[in-house]
Amino acid sequence: MLKENLAQVEQNIRAACERVGRAREEVTLIAVSKTKPVEMLQEIYSEGIRDFGENKVQELCDKMEILPDDIRWHMIGHLQTNKVKYIVGRTELIHSVDSLHLAEEIQKQAVKKGVFVPVLVEVNIAQEESKFGTSKEEAVQLVRGIAGLDHLQVKGLMTIAPYTENPEDNRLYFRQIRQLSVDIGKQNIDNVSMNVLSMGMTGDYMTAIEEGATIVRVGTGIFGERNYSKE
Ligand SMILES: *Cc1c(COP(=O)(O)O)cnc(C)c1O
Repeated sequence: MLKENLAQVEQNIRAACERVGRAREEVTLIAVSKTKPVEMLQEIYSEGIRDFGENKVQELCDKMEILPDDIRWHMIGHLQTNKVKYIVGRTELIHSVDSLHLAEEIQKQAVKKGVFVPVLVEVNIAQEESKFGTSKEEAVQLVRGIAGLDHLQVKGLMTIAPYTENPEDNRLYFRQIRQLSVDIGKQNIDNVSMNVLSMGMTGDYMTAIEEGATIVRVGTGIFGERNYSKE
């Protein structure tokens, strides 16, 4: 079943790329595996997926220990400063840097370990109360602050668009964040690149790709609905 789901997602990604004249290689699919057992991750791994996204440090570390070394792990959830030490140097990309305080802790741990940490700045584009992320207005300032931390490498922006039944509702937000990333890119800030745009989930990843996403984060579309009740 997962194989079929994945094939469908892959087909949708290709179709979205084609609609706007983008190459399939411009978009990375992250399989968001939070709450899912390692057997399911293994199944997707055997289909060739190497990028996995988790939103909790403990779960990420547990799965990392069991699964193959060539997996690229993405931290996509809110990160608490006291958990930073467990993942620094072990993730492909931290998508959820939303404060200078957090970035400074990442810097501290990165210096300790002698590693450089690629990060995205999370922007709360629709200014939802329930979501983390810096505001659109404060994003530049935060990027500039992080740029001064020499063991962090800002690669771009990440956003979680509002939940909606109709992906068209989010097109405007995807456009806004894309524009924001272009604007920040133009400032040529040292130690900052704006090549990565992590946006689009199961409900809206095709729209996100049409609007310039370079990473889409798909959970339900691959693994099925999550069941939080047994936690
Ligand atoms: C859970 C999660 C996803 C995946 O959501 P789906 O709707 O299941 O595809 C993507 N991004 C983040 C940050 C998440 O927490």
